[in-house]
Amino acid sequence: MLPVPVLERAASEMLDYNGSGMSVMEMSHRSAVYEEIIQSAEKSIRKLMNIPDNYKVLFLQGGASTQFAAVPLNLIGRTGKADYVVSGQFSNKAFKEAQRLGFDVKCIASSKDTNFDRIPVVTKDMISPDASYVHVCFNNTIYGTKYNYIPDTGDIPLVADMSSCIISEPVDVSKFAVIYAGAQKNMAPAGVTLVIVRDDLLEYGKPDMPSMLDWKLMAENGSMYNTPPCYAIYIAGLVYEWILGLGGLEKMKEMNEKKAKYLYDYLDSQNYYIAPVVKESRSMMNVTFVTGVDELDKKFPSEAAKAGLVNLKGHRSVGGMRASIYNAMPYEGVVKLVEFMKEFAKNNPKN
Ligand SMILES: *Cc1c(COP(=O)(O)O)cnc(C)c1O
Repeated sequence: MLPVPVLERAASEMLDYNGSGMSVMEMSHRSAVYEEIIQSAEKSIRKLMNIPDNYKVLFLQGGASTQFAAVPLNLIGRTGKADYVVSGQFSNKAFKEAQRLGFDVKCIASSKDTNFDRIPVVTKDMISPDASYVHVCFNNTIYGTKYNYIPDTGDIPLVADMSSCIISEPVDVSKFAVIYAGAQKNMAPAGVTLVIVRDDLLEYGKPDMPSMLDWKLMAENGSMYNTPPCYAIYIAGLVYEWILGLGGLEKMKEMNEKKAKYLYDYLDSQNYYIAPVVKESRSMMNVTFVTGVDELDKKFPSEAAKAGLVNLKGHRSVGGMRASIYNAMPYEGVVKLVEFMKEFAKNNPKN
């Protein structure tokens, strides 16, 4: 979901952005008016996430999946090796992409054995002393798990895919070397990917990598080496302003915690639905549950849709249900879901 006030503002500016006589979709990305839009989006995300000055902020194309390749191409030159934690499908894809490119990468921890129902324990002694970086996926969108701590990697740069938890709560950016996130879960429409990278790490890129993946080149060009995803960046900027207006990430966290707590409290209070994720690893953004009966798991999302509650089907790889309660989902939406869950349980007894 995107926040309604953001969509309303975008609608009001659709035909004539700020007296320019055109839509943001129609502008030259080199125009002064667009320059202002991208710079103010950067200013807002810096303020919102409290990003230190020695970090570059990039707005790139290709989704988080493109960063699965860009991460090793930009960083592995430091030592020639890297460590990965596999906590779900996306972190596995990131790991596989580095392997596919022929890099020397190692999976140092995984929760595959327990069907990704938790975040694997990562301790300092597990990390290869000569790793260029350690890659983690901070919130596992499909399984509904999240790190409740920042792994201590010592001097080894920590790289985090935060596609599905970015700007849902405050994070200490200085604890990470790189944070990246596809926009379409919690920030903007699909098309832009945010990359936050500590600037001393821009020296290790493979000289022969495609220009479009080169963070240093992108940083030197203010994310405008080529045409950036102009409209998605504009919406991202409006979303950042919306959160700043609400009171920033502390406030966002409070709102998100309230929503997640309501849903998890209900799940913990009954035994019709099963929440497969261990409590310590529960995601605040993606709440997964099953009935334990295939037929009912299939029926739930279609009945829910009839009640106006959509997109509750779990990812095709895991089945069951998943309620993605990103920033823009109001508390009332979660209350409505829980009411529906109670009704469904009453009307569909398990034999
Ligand atoms: C959705 C998602 C991705 C993939 O994002 P794309 O922008 O579609 O490439 C990667 N990582 C996580 C954690 C995601 O939730």
